[in-house]
Amino acid sequence: MVDTVYDDLGVPRVINAVGDHTRIGGTRIRQEALNAMHDAGTAFVSLYDLQVCACERISAITGAEAGLVTNGAASGLVLAAAAAIAGTDFEALEQLPHPEDQPNEILIPRAHRNEYDVTLRAAGADVVGVGHVDLKNGTENLKPWELDVAISDQTAAVAYIATPRNRLSLETVVDVAHNHGVQVIVDAAAELPPTRNLERFIKAGADAVVFSGGKAIRGPQSTGILAGTRDIVEPAAILSIPSDTHEALWDPPAALIRRDEVVGMPNHGIGRPFKVGKEELVGLLRALELFIDKDDEEVYEEWNKRAESLRDQLANVPGLEVTCTHLEEPETVSELHLELDEAESEIGPESLIRELREEDPRIYVGERLLDDGVVIVNPKRLTNEEADYLVERIAENLRGAESY
Ligand SMILES: *Cc1c(COP(=O)(O)O)cnc(C)c1O
Repeated sequence: MVDTVYDDLGVPRVINAVGDHTRIGGTRIRQEALNAMHDAGTAFVSLYDLQVCACERISAITGAEAGLVTNGAASGLVLAAAAAIAGTDFEALEQLPHPEDQPNEILIPRAHRNEYDVTLRAAGADVVGVGHVDLKNGTENLKPWELDVAISDQTAAVAYIATPRNRLSLETVVDVAHNHGVQVIVDAAAELPPTRNLERFIKAGADAVVFSGGKAIRGPQSTGILAGTRDIVEPAAILSIPSDTHEALWDPPAALIRRDEVVGMPNHGIGRPFKVGKEELVGLLRALELFIDKDDEEVYEEWNKRAESLRDQLANVPGLEVTCTHLEEPETVSELHLELDEAESEIGPESLIRELREEDPRIYVGERLLDDGVVIVNPKRLTNEEADYLVERIAENLRGAESY
């Protein structure tokens, strides 16, 4: 394996067999996006002009009224929540995250509660769970009337986490919320591909939807997309693009901020820590172009082929039972599930995962099903060379344990 800047720093690099996980650096950024970032770094540009360009492209791709490049999907959620609470009222925006007079409850189906709720709270929202969790399968059990009666004059928005497991349709949630004039914020950070999801949630009536730029799109790790109505994107732009000039000279682009509808010039608000650099912004736009250009089927086929060839290699390792998920469940993204034969190896799944992570280079395999004794290998970000090395290291670790 060729040396990387991580080797120069004396930091162990990671072989990624878990997928696009932030803690190990997200995705492998597209070379074209890196080139674009390099060019972007050599000259200056107005962030307003650049975000107007982003807004036009995001609108065209998602069908939303407007859009913004954000600092990860997570900050898109903070900005969308802030927008839902304060709108374009500068005084209210400036109070965040401690709104004084604005309704600030964000309702969320209980089964959708997750560790990213904190993004909504960071904007000053009180996150309130509604409905129940279906005991049989852990999905949401929220009846439309339950949402209907939960909405009050304290409600700022309804949040909805898009996953392939959703049973409660977004359309239903939007129907009930919009009946009360309440906006719906959708977290679809990891719901790409399929590419059609870029439009799907907007079509279903979402007021705001966020996607990660540093996952399947393979843009810079710190980018995200916020697409939505002007009512959401305008406050988000006010909060996250610094005005930083003499008030008499403040001249924001009408595509993002309607100057005649706001009073004065805003100060830095809670969006200031989420600034997006010109390099990241340009890198995301380039990556997005390439992402939508490629056929989903082609991408799936590539991942599945890689999964099958890796399965064949791993199947030769003594002591391993390997299944390939897309062969069992079509339509799912390929993962390999490894079960260790207790009789053939002393080492358990937890030790295997830990040992691999402690090597240099570190090897990350998935632990999501560890409680079921399953080790996951996600092949989508592995090069052929890395895949060979992974198989060798798994075999070696299993053998090593046997010889004790
Ligand atoms: C990854 C993820 C996020 C955060 O996305 P970033 O782009 O890393 O900020 C938020 N919500 C969900 C469901 C995610 O999977």
